[in-house]
Amino acid sequence: MLNEREDCEKTNEVSEVILTGKAMFYLYSCSVLAWLYLHGHVVVDPRQEYIRSGKELDEYRFSNKRSLDLSPYGKCDWVTGAQTDPIIHEGSRSKYHNEPKRAQLRHYLWAARKLYGLEATGELHLIKGSVERIMPDDSAVERDHDRLRELLDAPVPKSKRIPICKGCSNKDWCWG
Ligand code: SF4
Repeated sequence: MLNEREDCEKTNEVSEVILTGKAMFYLYSCSVLAWLYLHGHVVVDPRQEYIRSGKELDEYRFSNKRSLDLSPYGKCDWVTGAQTDPIIHEGSRSKYHNEPKRAQLRHYLWAARKLYGLEATGELHLIKGSVERIMPDDSAVERDHDRLRELLDAPVPKSKRIPICKGCSNKDWCWG
């Protein structure tokens, strides 16, 4: 099993440690997963076919593309466009549930403005080949950051059965 928090960039500021794209992704996937991630407990089974093939696909798709350093706030997939107003791209592997990726991408647009003053827009590449434009929304992102900070100080949320429970490696926290 991999501990996902090992990917999380660390700084001396607790609030910055938790404000990563991955934290935003989990926030919109499942509040228990977000809590586990923030507390360093979430695990992903590398033997899962979906995760392994997804990582290999990402390595193939994004290896030759331009990147933008958004640390400590995360790592976007790739960037195109002008230096001053780039387009930040993310790929989604989900057929139906893309809100976590939208939130992650809005967070990267926020990070690009905060770190470099860039007026970036986003493009979310969906599994069937369509592309969705994502516009900046700093107020929404900052509300999400507040929710993450609240989760950090809260007890583990009550579990609710959702479709992704089926392939989740953290079931023992919820139904063990
Ligand atoms: S089993 Fe379901 S509720 Fe529990 S952490 Fe996984 S996705 Fe969330």
